[in-house]
Amino acid sequence: MTTARENAAALLEVRGLCKHFPTQHGWLGRTQTVRAVDGVNFSISGGETLGLVGESGCGKSTTGKLILRLQDPTAGEVLWNGQPIHDLSQSALRPVRRELQAVFQDPYASLNPRIRAADIVAEPLRNYEAMSAGQANERVAALFERVGLRPDQMVKYPFEFSGGQRQRLGIARALSVQPKLIVCDEPVSALDVSVQAQVINLLMDLQQQFKLSYLFIAHDLAVVEHISHRVAVMYLGRIVEIAPKRTIFTRPQHPYTEALLDAVPVPDPLVRKNRRVLTGDVPSPINPPSGCHFHTRCPYTEERCRVESPAMRQVAPGQFVACHLRQPVSIKHTTDVSA
Ligand code: SF4
Repeated sequence: MTTARENAAALLEVRGLCKHFPTQHGWLGRTQTVRAVDGVNFSISGGETLGLVGESGCGKSTTGKLILRLQDPTAGEVLWNGQPIHDLSQSALRPVRRELQAVFQDPYASLNPRIRAADIVAEPLRNYEAMSAGQANERVAALFERVGLRPDQMVKYPFEFSGGQRQRLGIARALSVQPKLIVCDEPVSALDVSVQAQVINLLMDLQQQFKLSYLFIAHDLAVVEHISHRVAVMYLGRIVEIAPKRTIFTRPQHPYTEALLDAVPVPDPLVRKNRRVLTGDVPSPINPPSGCHFHTRCPYTEERCRVESPAMRQVAPGQFVACHLRQPVSIKHTTDVSA
């Protein structure tokens, strides 16, 4: 959900995005539908980081793949600079692919182990720009330096790098074609905590320098709090709350957001929190609960929660929540736009 001003400058808009997968179930092989993404709306403007959080299997990574057009949506659309990308031919999509890059969780799996580091970084560059080997080498050397790798590491193979260095390599590869937005899918969750901080700080420095936008997908709220400008909370394929970072971390309004924040460990043993602990497992996206998907785990469930799906409403400036208990407020200069 965004304000009208933010939306006017949106680089990326996601409208009513759905991805449903047919699946065979039971010994009769009945076809059922996994509702991985079920009507997601949000936008990201230039230079902004939107954190996307939620438990495993809530649809965060599938949303990222739909934005990158690695998968086609069942319904809804992804607009890049106002243009729906899923209607574009492969040739029309080329410039969009250049501007929309990705950094994935497991850098080792996403880098070809048989190609030297310099060629891994140069590959997308050569796809988009005609240049001599010497020019490509110069550009790659500059990228290595920018992400904190040494020029002598250009001849090494991915297995010769540490996890953090491999992630720097993945970032250099994404940066090589001068993107505008990078989908970062759990980019630090496989790294040691000390290395996580270095990579996050690098991403923030690069954002400043190149005015990059990020969709930062993660389950670690501390990391998301550090890097994001706004945060969207996802549950069973839907966004249940979206708000500026400070608002969501100090005044969460959706019971699921409250529970997620309460689950964050406090490093001081003398500090005791009144935690709202979530009970029960996340329901299956094959047959999600009726009404509000969260009603089977919500401590405030009412009768209508079981039958009526709550609409997204603005409850404070820039803060949108899908919960029957939250009352909408009338706020000047902001409108419900896309999420
Ligand atoms: Fe809980 Fe009802 Fe709000 Fe859903 S709509 S979060 S079940 S109170």
